[in-house]
Amino acid sequence: MAARRTTNSQSRATQNYITDRVIFSRAWRVKRDMNATHPIPPLDAGRLSARRQAARRNAAIATDMMAECRLCARDCGVDRSHGPAGACAAPAQARMFDFSVDWSGEAGLAPCAIVSLSGCNLSCAFCIVARESQNALLGEPLEASAVAACIDQQTPQIQSFSVLGGEPTIHLPSVLDLVSQVSVGTPFVWKTNACASEAALPLIADVADVVLADFKFGNDACARRLAAFPRYMATVQMNLRFWRERGTPLIVRHLLMPGHLDCCLQPIVDWMARELPDATLSLMPGYRPTHRAASMPDLARRIRPDETQRATDMVRAAGVALHPWVTSPPPAAAVAPAAEADDIWIDATGCIHGLAANGPLAACLRNLQKEFHVGA
Ligand code: SF4
Repeated sequence: MAARRTTNSQSRATQNYITDRVIFSRAWRVKRDMNATHPIPPLDAGRLSARRQAARRNAAIATDMMAECRLCARDCGVDRSHGPAGACAAPAQARMFDFSVDWSGEAGLAPCAIVSLSGCNLSCAFCIVARESQNALLGEPLEASAVAACIDQQTPQIQSFSVLGGEPTIHLPSVLDLVSQVSVGTPFVWKTNACASEAALPLIADVADVVLADFKFGNDACARRLAAFPRYMATVQMNLRFWRERGTPLIVRHLLMPGHLDCCLQPIVDWMARELPDATLSLMPGYRPTHRAASMPDLARRIRPDETQRATDMVRAAGVALHPWVTSPPPAAAVAPAAEADDIWIDATGCIHGLAANGPLAACLRNLQKEFHVGA
């Protein structure tokens, strides 16, 4: 499908961003092969039409809800329709600070086109995009038609597309508007911190093809101290039970934090074993002490390899299925020949991304991939 023509500077910036980053389609094909054990099939024409219609209809409902906003479990009840308000201080129109394609992620979902929106309803001490997530006014106004065209353009290289930030729930009207304008059957992954309100969940459920839900903390005390969020456990468990009942494919994601295996990971896997027998757990090993965490005694270090191993053992002992995690760089078969330039970069969080690498650099990156891989 041809991309729609766009004329303003923000749209050009979006297009340039993609052109810069999405280069080696051959490597992407290998990536898809790696994901073959967890395929997420594209939507057929009937399901795509239903998703677009539902998104359009629910966007209008969500817009009305902003007049007394209870989109998330913060339950502020403030009027966001005329300007920033509530705990998230987010304006009515979402603002985008990044568009990229993520090579790394859960098998079956990556590569994933990612639309990143400013603002969040949590305040995590270790947030890797704290500047944008804690200021909903950063970035540019989301141009749904232009961004939808970019997503269309990425098909068939991508396995999925997603909206995050920040947290997409607080921008539900804008996100639904965007989804209504995506005209290809690429699965839409609802990546969320699982703190949506009961009222918002059905609006999301009509359009989400897969749910990737964070379960960050295993008790309310850690959630209050590290994310300033009340009633965390009840909220997340309500969200996850909703998705279980709905039958939407569900992956739970947990970022391994140093020193939080017994207080956080263990209760999470115990609960999942009881209540989510069909869900898989994605353990994220890439914790970095960013933002406020750098000055917190329990969080100011990376997680050790022995902790990662213990965490994996805890999950398996609980009987919860691990979801394989695929990371860049691509395997050797996908590495560009020597005549082609290396193409790697390190983002603001220190995470290494690679589209192509040669010789010693490729070997070095493959070793890093082994060190940080966590999977079944
Ligand atoms: S989205 Fe959540 S945090 Fe933001 S105003 Fe609404 S209820 Fe409050």
